[in-house]
Amino acid sequence: MPEVELAAGTMAVATLAPGDSLCVRALVAGQAAELVAHAAADPRERLSTLLTGLAEGAYTLREGMVLWSQEYRALLRVEELSNERHDLALEACNPWVSRALSATLAGDCCWTSFRAWLEREGLPEKWVPYPVGIFKQADERSGRYGLRAGSSSVGDFVRFSAASRCTVLVSACPLTAGGEPGAPAIEVTWNATRES
Ligand SMILES: [Zn+2]
Repeated sequence: MPEVELAAGTMAVATLAPGDSLCVRALVAGQAAELVAHAAADPRERLSTLLTGLAEGAYTLREGMVLWSQEYRALLRVEELSNERHDLALEACNPWVSRALSATLAGDCCWTSFRAWLEREGLPEKWVPYPVGIFKQADERSGRYGLRAGSSSVGDFVRFSAASRCTVLVSACPLTAGGEPGAPAIEVTWNATRES
């Protein structure tokens, strides 16, 4: 079972077959992760958080929920989670958002990592899918939209299963980081017993 520890600003890539599982776990409090998924057969088919939110009637993750592609194909299913405070609305953190928030980041923006993968797949497009913001919270309590610390406590996790053959990218978000720069912040483990 592959296991990767990510520092904020780094990414893991997992190729899953139907039934395989993938778990994202926080190693430090306040750390968020961004997750996107692409159909293995054609990476142009990818996660749609908009369609997922509409089809599931949800603005966060919950047990049993399906993550859908823009073509309404089931990519992942949420099997188990220790925390239900996540985001389906924000785009991947990118150099422009970071600039707008005057943030200093360690490592790569999630957008930068996701886009580099797309480029390697022969898809050098500028815009990447909106991610699931695992443990990410947009603050609307004051009537203003903005980021606050990730909802994660140490050990908080979300476990998914693959509903179809797909590639999953998980980036430890440098914009919503919990620990010291360069220190392990997110653990990603997945089942890769079958050839994909
Ligand atoms: Zn990010």
